[in-house]
Amino acid sequence: MLGLMQDWPLLCHRIIDHAATLHGARQVISRSVEGPIHATDYATIRTRARKVAQRLERDGIRLGDRVGTLAWNTWRHLEVWYGILGLGAVYHTVNPRLFPDQIAWIVNDAQDRVMIADLTFVPILEKLADKLPTVERYVILTDANNMPATTLRNAVAYEDWIAEVDGDFEWRVFDENTAAGMCYTSGTTGHPKGVVYSHRSNVLHSMIACMPDAMGISSRDVVMPVVPMFHANCWGIALSAPMMGAALIMPGAKLDGPSVYELLAKYQVTFTAAVPTVWLMLLQHLEATGAKLPDLKRVVIGGSASPRAMIKTFQDVYGVEVVHAWGMTEMSPLGSLCSLKPEYAGLEGEARLDIQQKQGHPPFGVEMKITDDAGRELPWDGKTFGRLKVRGPAVARAYYKGEGDEAFESDGFFDTGDVATMDANGYMQITDRSKDVIKSGGEWISSIDLENLAVGHPKVLEAAVIGVRHPKWDERPLLIVVLKKEQTVTKDELLDFMRGKVAHWWLPDDVVVVDDIPHTATGKILKTALRDRFKDYVLPTVQAAE
Ligand code: AMP
Repeated sequence: MLGLMQDWPLLCHRIIDHAATLHGARQVISRSVEGPIHATDYATIRTRARKVAQRLERDGIRLGDRVGTLAWNTWRHLEVWYGILGLGAVYHTVNPRLFPDQIAWIVNDAQDRVMIADLTFVPILEKLADKLPTVERYVILTDANNMPATTLRNAVAYEDWIAEVDGDFEWRVFDENTAAGMCYTSGTTGHPKGVVYSHRSNVLHSMIACMPDAMGISSRDVVMPVVPMFHANCWGIALSAPMMGAALIMPGAKLDGPSVYELLAKYQVTFTAAVPTVWLMLLQHLEATGAKLPDLKRVVIGGSASPRAMIKTFQDVYGVEVVHAWGMTEMSPLGSLCSLKPEYAGLEGEARLDIQQKQGHPPFGVEMKITDDAGRELPWDGKTFGRLKVRGPAVARAYYKGEGDEAFESDGFFDTGDVATMDANGYMQITDRSKDVIKSGGEWISSIDLENLAVGHPKVLEAAVIGVRHPKWDERPLLIVVLKKEQTVTKDELLDFMRGKVAHWWLPDDVVVVDDIPHTATGKILKTALRDRFKDYVLPTVQAAE
């Protein structure tokens, strides 16, 4: 017997319809790429998104065609997403921080037919255009006044392009499992792998994201996604904020501390999300200027582990609650969020930070387990590490064109490539990427734990720990640090600071101070480059052993 409820496919453009109908006047404010602040609202965004759909259709774009975007977070990028979605085409966010050859590779792999790009990226596209045969037209997100002279094929200013249609367009209705968006993972080895979101997975993910113990967004929030729309599906915020009718502040191309602060303060942002690198810049700005953020209630920190000191500073100095979160492009991307269950809600001080440093518990819609290498489930005791595996309606079941499919297991779980512990209350803590964990004498040492500890030292700006070859132990940890301006530090000073806070055999064998630590296109420490750079490094403990 089937239920007798209506068939209402979960289609992403229904989100902008809801926002336009129920929260039509709610503001969407952006720092435009041209410079000035721009204000619009959800009703206008829907009107213009319909023009995007109609105009794309006139250019021959049909259900399932891929439309690339190379763009910052602005109202225009949002209109473009909803226009593409409402036509049944597929938005493909390209990360501009990738190497040019990688950009060309993924645009070709996805076979983007149109590329919609910000002014910032015209020069790079001009250099690559010969290598992008599938792209029939370039739409530059600006108006005629700011449109540069360009050699790009069929290039047109966005405002002119949408002005050619009247917006009389009915959203298409189709199966909710239809592809909605694509995002390539920033793999550190091999080619990037394409993740293909469906309308259904995006809508369910947005509902999951808004739940109170997840991001807890409401119509009373003013939300600023500093996380770019090209990073892991914007952590869902480009869909979940309109779904809730929250006001949106889009930071455009300027993600430095003073610029982010300016928007947070001026528009009384209550909720924001980004990777730790962004928050480091903001906190430095706040410290240098003595500024405060009285309206900001919650900040989500994810993408890499949040340093303990960062959580403490946000909470104790600025009165902002931190929600540490973990996820992956393959998970739409939310996997877990560290909101406090009653078991932990009463904790204070260091005991509270001990929990908040964990990546949190999965919301409904994400099943999680940890296993050993043979696939046997490991206990949730907060100590045993294992391979972290997940399953759910917004988790990928395959990569585009079947790349890397060994990660998708026969029981429907996806092996995340992360190594984690789970505690008795279901709180997960990432101990490492499986590739980065340091194997010392048959035991595992978490590079992330050591990094978190090292960045707690007042002179340390950033820290990375890698395993370096050791004849006796196989690998031993090497701590690599960037110091804050005009600081010096000795190895003993750092090791003494860490001593007693981890098992003594975890302490790094050596410390190196460098000017700069390399990062991936999504702001994660590029461990492969560090391992390469230090591949011949001889630890003092090796010299002593010889
Ligand atoms: P991406 O798909 O680019 O978002 O990268 C996903 C990977 O980032 C995960 O598999 C983790 O290794 C890492 N990651 C994301 N969030 C966190 C976090 N809060 N703590 C530690 N690692 C994280």
